[in-house]
Formats: sequence, structure tokens, C-alpha cells
Amino acid sequence: MLHASDLGWPTEFIDRYRHDGYWRNETINTFLNNIVKKYNERTAIIDGGTSLSYADLKQLVEKVAKGFSKLGLHSGDHVVLQLPNCWQFVVALFALSRLGVAPVLALPAHRQVEISAFIKSVNAKAYICADEVNTFDYRAMARELQIQHKELRHIIVNGDAEEFISFEDMITTDSSELPEDQVTADSLFCFLLSGGTTNIPKLIARVHCEYLCCVRYNVLANNFDDTTVYLVSLPMAHNFPLSAPGVLGTFHCGGTLVIAPTPDPDTCFDLIDEHKVTNTALVPPAAILWCDMAELLERQGTFPSLRIIQVGGSRVGEELVQRMTRIFGCRFQNIFGMSEGLISVTRSGMNEEIVQHTQGYPVCPADEYRIVNHLDQEVPDGEIGALQIRGPYTIHAYFNRPDANALSFTEDGFFRTGDLAQRRADGYLVIEGREKDQIQRGGEKIIPEEVENVLVTFKGVRDAILVGIDDSVLGERICAFIFVHENKDVDLNERTLRRFLQAEGITTFKIPDQFIFLTSFPSTAVGKNNRRELRALLLEQYRTSLNKTEGEEHV
Ligand code: AMP
Repeated sequence: MLHASDLGWPTEFIDRYRHDGYWRNETINTFLNNIVKKYNERTAIIDGGTSLSYADLKQLVEKVAKGFSKLGLHSGDHVVLQLPNCWQFVVALFALSRLGVAPVLALPAHRQVEISAFIKSVNAKAYICADEVNTFDYRAMARELQIQHKELRHIIVNGDAEEFISFEDMITTDSSELPEDQVTADSLFCFLLSGGTTNIPKLIARVHCEYLCCVRYNVLANNFDDTTVYLVSLPMAHNFPLSAPGVLGTFHCGGTLVIAPTPDPDTCFDLIDEHKVTNTALVPPAAILWCDMAELLERQGTFPSLRIIQVGGSRVGEELVQRMTRIFGCRFQNIFGMSEGLISVTRSGMNEEIVQHTQGYPVCPADEYRIVNHLDQEVPDGEIGALQIRGPYTIHAYFNRPDANALSFTEDGFFRTGDLAQRRADGYLVIEGREKDQIQRGGEKIIPEEVENVLVTFKGVRDAILVGIDDSVLGERICAFIFVHENKDVDLNERTLRRFLQAEGITTFKIPDQFIFLTSFPSTAVGKNNRRELRALLLEQYRTSLNKTEGEEHV
């Protein structure tokens, strides 16, 4: 089993955080034991018609851990866990943890290219997936993965398993003993995924005690307690709904987790009413949908149980904060953070101006951040620079990526977030944008190059440039400029390119929302390799052409 020191954490920091009490002698397993002892018969999870008490949860976790153990999964193994929001996700996560097996927490949207890379990167012994969700058949993908990866010994399917192992069969009823718990506070807990990386997301190895440190401080910043009823509708595999304070924060306090399959407002509003939900988390596009639906249903001010709605994952505009507060009548929290670590939030008692314009301050007193210029020198408060972070739950290295680590971390252990930010004179953190080319579509991050590199392999495409276009719902939508070969006898249109990208295994959220076909580059002396400039130019042309059309329409 891997430990913090194998995963890039320098001894100096391990010692410091232990000494200062940020890293406690606790694991996800001891965490579960403690909450079960304390909250035994309280309701831990509500998922459709299934309701589980803390005691039920523990029983299920032990049974499933035995099932996994019988299959041959043991301490030090890695697996890929790809389940949509459901109680089985929670049980599987705790059960794997109990055995010392670390899962890669894949998102339901990931497809074969990514899952295959995860299996390879961690040498996964098992793949745990759903049967079919929204017409996508995970079993069909599993069949391909099985052919590709001889190391993949077990495929466990939740639902109709067909020829694979059924998750239900993992709920063993025999009285065999579980293997001894070998997990220590500094053991590897799980792998999260970095957003917006070229090709395949990088793996973020999270360790038991530091992950729980993150949970504890998010709980404090959100005032969770045993009356908290948290609705999870964003994918639980994301760090934000899992630990900030999310699923684990709710359990930490003995609250109740209400599971929604997606942030669809119809379903979520019903769940809020029925279970008197107090807290929830959204990304901006989902928050906009919620506002639209609430207005349509004339439901302004009719959500009395709600205490806080957190919105984050990408830029949250001030209009959205105002709209949410007006409609939902509860506190709004702007949450900034990343799977690599630091979480910064606005808190109760902060005035409207701060909530609307800043991302508050980090949740843990030992979190550190600095804003630097291109020479890595700190800039004065009020100036914009690159944001670097360090702290008790911020990683010091990506998993097995020395190339990326050399670029992403400073010598003194700060993570280069790639975000542009400023510390205001009053001390609050403001996120101003991105250093790197990255499209932020809803909560998802897309590196243009990844999709461009695939598009250019299609016959008739001379080059492709992806840009993010401001979008009132998504924040940014993806627009692909396709430079076509003239005189090529190929049928190039949106449909063929969309299908092609799908067939190439490009994740759904990365497929452009819009395609624009051009026969030449913009008429400037832009070097072909200066793609950043090219992107900016195309965007400018696009905006100018839009303004023109709008102008014409108004004449
Ligand atoms: P991920 O690790 O996928 O959650 O992505 C983290 C990135 O999302 C950050 O580095 C930011 O670029 C962006 N992000 C997250 N929350 C916010 C926010 N509240 N405002 C602006 N950007 C955000």
C-alpha cells in the first residue's frame, strides 16, 4: 500500500501537519466506525426508495468489503470506480477503503479513452461500473476494456450485470471474517482526477488523514451539524460534492445525505420539499437552470428548509448570486477550490459585496496561498498574478507524473494552480481567470488541444481551433473553428464531426457545442504554432461578426 511519503509529501510537511494537529491519526475506516457509534440509528442516506441508517451503512460496507475480499481484492490494490450518484457508490467507496484498495474516482461522463488510461496508470485489478445510464451502456465499454487490459481481472456491474459480476452479489451474507485493517492515517485513500489536462486527466492521490482534514474544515466553514440534510446532485466522484463538505461532511456530523441522480431541478425541488433539505452544492449552469425553473414554477421564496447553497467549480457571476439569493431565500456560498487541494469560501456574516465579488478565504488556518508574477515573485495586494497554494490537504505531486510535477510545483512545495487571482486589500481572495488555455464549460474543464488533435485526423480537416464562447448558462460553450481543405471531396459537417469525436472516445462534455467551418486562417501574421494568439483572434472575429449581425437585425 502506498503512503504519503511515496506520494510526494515531504517529511518536513508530514511532521508539521501531524504536530499541529491537522493530520490526525484517523482513516476513512475509523471515521466510519466513529460516526456509526455516535449516530447509529439516524438516517445516513436516502436514495429513491432506499433509506439507510448509519448502522445499515456499516453493515452493508462490511458485507461488500467481504465480497470484494473474496474476489481477491486486497490491501495495496487499485481499481476504477465509475458509478453515477447512488448509495452503492458510497458503500463501495467505504468498502474499498476498509480493504486498503484505492479507487480511481472516474466521472460517469468518462469514456473508453480515459477509463483505459486510468486502468493502465494504476494497474487496476477491477472496474466497477453501472449497467446503463442515459442510453450509454457501460457493459459494452467494459467488454472492450477487458480485451484491451489483461490486468483487469474483475468487472463488477451495478444493475443488470449480464455476463459480469453483479454488485448485488458482493453483498455477502456469510459469517467470514474481514481481513485485518492495514490502513493507516497516511495511507493512500483514492485517486481524484485533475480538471482540464491535455489528453488524460492526471491522477491526484489523496491520503486518508489529509482528506479528512479537508472535510473537517469545510464542515466548520459551512456550519454543518446533525440537523444537516445535504442534497448531492453533482457527481459524487467530484471532490467538491464529496468532501467540501459534501457527502463526507454530512456523515461527519451525523446528518442525512439525500441522493439525486443529476441536478435536474424538477427532481431536486421535489427532494428538497420532501426531505426538507438544508444544504446543497451546484455548478453555475445548474444554478441557472434552478433559477429558471423556480421562476417558471413561481416558486420564489418557497424553499424554507434551505440554509446554504454553495456554487462553484467555475466563475460565479454577481447576477447569479443575487438571483439565487432572491429566489431561494437562503445564504449563498461562493466556493473556489480544486481536486488538488485548497478550498476557499465565503462564510456566514460576510456582507453582500464580499459574497458577490470574492471567493472568501481558505477554509483551514494552515492553508497558504500567494499571488506571484512571471518570476514567481509575490505581487502586492490588489495586483493580479498567478495563484500558488500549499497546505495540509494540498498535494505535493501528481501520481507518477514527474514531467507534470516539474512544471506544476515550486521548489518550496507550492502548487501552481494555473488560476489568475488577487488578494484584495481587505484580505479576500478573488479569482480573475486562467493563465492557461482552458475552456470551463459548466464545472468541467477542457483543454482545447486534446479535441483539436483528434479533429485534425479527420479527412478534410486542415486544422481545428477550439475556443470558449461566453454562454449565459454554461459559463462558456465550446466553439470549434474548422479549417477545411478546399477541393477535398469529403462531407464535412457538424454531425459527421460530432459522431467522429464520439467514436474516438472523446468524453461527451468535451464535444464542441458549435462548429464554424472556414477555408482560411485569419489574415494576420500569426505563426501557426502560436495557437493562443490564433484562438484570441478567432474569438475576436467571431464577436465582431456577431455584433454585426445583431446590428443588422436592429436596422
Ligand atoms: P477541479 O479540480 O476540476 O474542481 O477544477 C478546479 C478549477 O476550477 C480551479 O483551478 C478554477 O480554475 C476553477 N474554479 C473552481 N471554483 C471556482 C470559482 N468559484 N470561481 C472561479 N473558478 C473556479
